[in-house]
Amino acid sequence: MKLAILSRAPRTYSTQRLRTAALDRGHDVKVLNTLRFAIDLSGPEPDLQFRGRPLSDYDAVVPRIGNSITYFGTAVVRQFEQMDVYTPNTANGIANSRDKLRATQILSRHNIGMPATTFVRNRADVNAAINRVGGAPVVIKLLEGTQGIGVILAPEIKVAEAIIETLQSTQQNVLIQAFVTESRGRDIRALVVGDRVVAAMRRTAQGGEFRSNVHRGGTVEGVELTPEYEQTAVRAAQIMGLRVAGVDMLEGNEGPLVMEVNSSPGLQGIETATKLDVAGAIIDYVSNQVAFPEIDVRQRLTVSTGYGVAELVVHSASDLVGQPLRDSGLTDRDITVLTLHRGTQVVPNPKPGQRLEAEDRLLCFGKLEEMRSMIPERRRRRAKVRKLPKQPIHEG
Ligand code: ADP
Repeated sequence: MKLAILSRAPRTYSTQRLRTAALDRGHDVKVLNTLRFAIDLSGPEPDLQFRGRPLSDYDAVVPRIGNSITYFGTAVVRQFEQMDVYTPNTANGIANSRDKLRATQILSRHNIGMPATTFVRNRADVNAAINRVGGAPVVIKLLEGTQGIGVILAPEIKVAEAIIETLQSTQQNVLIQAFVTESRGRDIRALVVGDRVVAAMRRTAQGGEFRSNVHRGGTVEGVELTPEYEQTAVRAAQIMGLRVAGVDMLEGNEGPLVMEVNSSPGLQGIETATKLDVAGAIIDYVSNQVAFPEIDVRQRLTVSTGYGVAELVVHSASDLVGQPLRDSGLTDRDITVLTLHRGTQVVPNPKPGQRLEAEDRLLCFGKLEEMRSMIPERRRRRAKVRKLPKQPIHEG
């Protein structure tokens, strides 16, 4: 394949390793400085210029977009996506993972363990927010911090309030997060490539420090992950739209707690700690996927008027329960079932003989009008036991 590594730092360990791994496998590879692209929307089709000249054809890109150039860098990746060039990490995935709040929001509905987190703006709401995550000591995080900078442990509520107020007064948004005491200055970094963890390490903080980042003096050792940690890491990366990711997890009493999903994970620490060829795994994965560039299925499939994708649920009272798909009448109603989800199990392209069960979820393409009656009810929020205020509260 012809591969471009998008990087502003051609000489760093990670970029060098990716380049060498690609060359060793006989690929044609170039390291291109992300900031020298021009996004060209002047012609009939989306295009890119590099250093002022039209870019030649590439099969795939591996983006290594630094934090300081997220906006421009993701625009370049998005442009490659529009040109049907394969990228393991989408522009949306990269942008979403950059912002700790946005990432936590996206992961929060998927049953992935995370430290209790809350986000407020008004100082009057800070105290309740801290209590909601379990009270002090509490972790305060800048939304876009990296390398442990902007992650603060506040020992008591008054200190936490003062820190939050100070940061907000300088227009910085902060997350409030439960301090996971039992992780004791340790965390796990799992390197996800495609649908597996190719390497994992444990980082341990130095001395009294609670942050285990290597930039804060943390030490690293390779570890074997349990299936629970592996699955959590892979699911978190996939939900974020990242096929190459460094997933950081705390070791909670109840299992893994995802803190962050990193879209440009450094390779030096993990390759040194595990002696594994992570760069090679990334290149092999990319070259296997080149034929399948990202497409926005929903967007592409809804262009024919009246058709679209929807997730339908087999209600327990429905006649469909116990029926094989071929007798379900869905085909007659012009509905095609793309996948069947049953609990955590997924059946792609279910066969005509596949029997339906109550609560099966069917991802379908078809006539929207025909699907309407099978759309599940909107998810109701779980009622929290809370005393009702005597007086109505006026919002806003
Ligand atoms: P960064 O993106 O700057 O690395 P993280 O959110 O990963 O920020 O936090 C840095 C380090 O601080 C983590 O690696 C972990 O060791 C520690 N840490 C972060 N959040 C918590 C928490 N809620 N409880 C305990 N330790 C934490």
